[in-house]
Amino acid sequence: MGEPRFIDLRSDTVTRPSVGMRSAMAAAEVGDDVYGEDPSINELEARTAELLGHEAGLFCPTGSMANLLGVWSLAPRGAEVLCDQQAHIARAEMGAHAALHGITMRTWESSSGVSGVAKVSDVTSMMSISTGPFLVETAAVAIENTHNFGGGTIHPIGMLRELRAACRQVGVAMHLDGARLWNAHVATGVDLTDYGRLFDTVTVCFSKGLGAPVGSVLVSSHERIAAARVQRKRLGGGMRQAGVLAAAAAYALDHNIARLADDHANARSFAEAVAVAAPGVVAPELVATNIVVLDVGDRAASQVVATARRQGVGLSAVGSHLVRAVTHLDAGAPACRDAGRLVGELLAT
Ligand SMILES: *Cc1c(COP(=O)(O)O)cnc(C)c1O
Repeated sequence: MGEPRFIDLRSDTVTRPSVGMRSAMAAAEVGDDVYGEDPSINELEARTAELLGHEAGLFCPTGSMANLLGVWSLAPRGAEVLCDQQAHIARAEMGAHAALHGITMRTWESSSGVSGVAKVSDVTSMMSISTGPFLVETAAVAIENTHNFGGGTIHPIGMLRELRAACRQVGVAMHLDGARLWNAHVATGVDLTDYGRLFDTVTVCFSKGLGAPVGSVLVSSHERIAAARVQRKRLGGGMRQAGVLAAAAAYALDHNIARLADDHANARSFAEAVAVAAPGVVAPELVATNIVVLDVGDRAASQVVATARRQGVGLSAVGSHLVRAVTHLDAGAPACRDAGRLVGELLAT
């Protein structure tokens, strides 16, 4: 018997750059980006800004840094940002927005019936506008699309338009954590520009489903991006010949967006296989993109993850009883189905 196969569904960050991507990286024209002289980075920043309907872009090493800079450019020290209680900016960025920029957060519990997806009234009812010395001022609202810990769920464009109108009325800015906006775009057919222009700042990741090793871009106005460029350097994020990384991202834009539909189909079939053996753990029809969140009931999520790992499937715990599987370009259809069967058996009682 050979080595047992490991199907790694812990995250879509585990992908390795393909041969084609590596040759694009090797061929990249580069320069010193702190001098603004890396043509590959300049091109990626401009291209991403245009895709999202914004004036300018800023290449960042991580999505966390891009979010940190986007939120920073909308909310002054001491102000608050409203977001979902499971938002990446609130849960997974190590408190950076508070620790480094003095920004506070209040969170809503989504009540639309779709995990991670707010109702407009959830958000507007929390806003504190012009309350003087009594309440923390709401500077911005942050939306995550797709919603990671919510299970790859999608904010409907109509809801986002309504929220934009409500925010505009009271002068509250909007940030989009679009780490997986590509997935929302492919799943719904809504243009990236239509999503992007509803927000003052938008971040996208190339290191998730798009398969690049590193890289995110923040887009916004010329003015905000110029300020964010200074702050990025202050944070130690001024990179030099990083065009090799931008070339990977550009390759991903050319080759890896449409194929996200495969990841979505594979996530659905993973969930279906789980549900056959362990009904109630997941509702496959609610799997909208490439993320499946399993409710493992009384079991400890960490135990389920450890057992699955021993049996050759990588999952991650995203709550004490919630386990996440994420499909991606290095996990094909048969592997995802097999993983679903195995996890289903493990959860069948
Ligand atoms: C992955 C991710 C980010 C950025 O994460 P980094 O690891 O810092 O690149 C931001 N938001 C969401 C929703 C994510 O899933």
